[in-house]
Amino acid sequence: MSPELTAALSLCRNLPSPPAVAVRLIELAQDPETDIASAADVIALDMSLSARMMRIANSPLYASRRRIENLGQALTMLGLNATLQLSLGFSLARALHDDERHAQLHDAVWRRSILSALAARYLGLSCGVRRVEELMLAGLLQDIGILTLLQIRSGDYPELLASVSSNDELLARERSMLGCSHAEIGANLCEQWGLPRFLVEAISHSEAPAEATDLFERCVALSSHVANIWLADDADAAREEALRRVYEDLGMDSSRFDQVLQQVSQMLPEISALFDVPVPSPARVTYLLDHASELIALRNLRQLQDASAWERRADHYEQQARRLAEQAHLDALTGVLNRRQLEVVLEQEFTHANHPDRPLSVAFIDLDDFKKINDQHGHLVGDQVLQAFASRLQSHLRGSDTVARFGGEEFVVLFPGTSQQTAVDVIRRVLGAIAHTPMVTVANAPLHITFSAGVATHGIYERFADMRDLLKAADDVLYRSKSLGRNRVIARAPESQPTAC
Ligand code: GH3
Ligand code: MG
Ligand code: MG
Repeated sequence: MSPELTAALSLCRNLPSPPAVAVRLIELAQDPETDIASAADVIALDMSLSARMMRIANSPLYASRRRIENLGQALTMLGLNATLQLSLGFSLARALHDDERHAQLHDAVWRRSILSALAARYLGLSCGVRRVEELMLAGLLQDIGILTLLQIRSGDYPELLASVSSNDELLARERSMLGCSHAEIGANLCEQWGLPRFLVEAISHSEAPAEATDLFERCVALSSHVANIWLADDADAAREEALRRVYEDLGMDSSRFDQVLQQVSQMLPEISALFDVPVPSPARVTYLLDHASELIALRNLRQLQDASAWERRADHYEQQARRLAEQAHLDALTGVLNRRQLEVVLEQEFTHANHPDRPLSVAFIDLDDFKKINDQHGHLVGDQVLQAFASRLQSHLRGSDTVARFGGEEFVVLFPGTSQQTAVDVIRRVLGAIAHTPMVTVANAPLHITFSAGVATHGIYERFADMRDLLKAADDVLYRSKSLGRNRVIARAPESQPTAC
């Protein structure tokens, strides 16, 4: 600002002066000894200010859980800093609002100021600036220079202000008329009033974001662009412009920005009423609020969709992994357990069969003369026989029984909780069924097979040292059944002689 203008301002007799209560509040803010009680003493002298402080303490801006009934409670809940910043804002706003001559212009300035105050607060909150009360005060007072100019240049400035259609045009016209902007005038006034340094600086840089030295000042400078969304004729264009700026200056994306808009919209009716300024076009507020919540809802939906797509993909991989794991446990040709997995299950079942009341029977099965099938009909038919046999065997067993391919044409069945006699009966039933129905049909001719089996039991009559001994015992009995002529199931039955089928 030119030295001439500074001098002119300091000599200007009609420069607005802060009300007495604001002067006291400014002094209190600068005194490190100040406490809530001394702030309350000053505020209590002003009925209207006290009422506003209680109202704001009960407003959604501070969302106290309990109703504030008196000034003391209000100020205690707000804390010293918020008390000083808010009361200063209210008292200065009231003092600067009393201009009957340019009531409409005044209303327009205050409308922007209140929007800017809220925008500065929520932009700051979104960016992690902690001094939200100071942000609100700076946002509120940033256009104090316009109010000053309306008073000290009442001849030409009101007309200029009424004729411009954008803030850029206002700044350009101010420069040509005054050689400075209303921001510089405002900062100068605040300095003369002894307002804190951060306010003077923030107001001074409010129209020049490039000069803003930190996030705090940038939030204040951007706040009027956000306010424009409510004030400009083309709300969508104003939103685009504000979004571009907040993205460039604060790195804020559209989703965070829409949240800011929603927060401003929600607080606006309450805060406008506190400053006796009509809410800017309620329809537009509703539209913006709906628009912002719609966007947030859409975004949430998209996130949900993304999440469910990920879930589906994860399910798919999980299923695939499970399938692979299962495959690793299964015999590729027959689909029953492979030998490695048989050993795992047998180990578990053997441990569970630690009490003679819970016997574990094992049947070792070997197809008879299988080599001949291969030799006569080829390996593929041999494979089909193995597959059909495994499936037929399984169909005769309970879900708790386990079938495994031990190797080649040898199978093992585990019968947990089953006596030797029952296991022998079951395997004999299988042998009987197989003998009656052909296993496969080769060149329209039925192909029958038989098998030999040995059954051993870890139970009342015999206890084995480990599962390998048990398995070997069953294999031994199988060998005996082969040597006795095949096509039979023999029990180890230690107390009696092995019985043939
Ligand atoms: P025994 O009655 O004494 O058990 O005679 P066997 O011919 O059944 O027994 P042997 O052990 O002499 O022959 C088993 C045959 O099983 C030999 C082998 O080629 C065949 N074999 C092993 N695995 C497979 C397989 O996966 N598919 C087919 N088709 N044949 C197999
Ligand atoms: Mg064999
Ligand atoms: Mg065999």
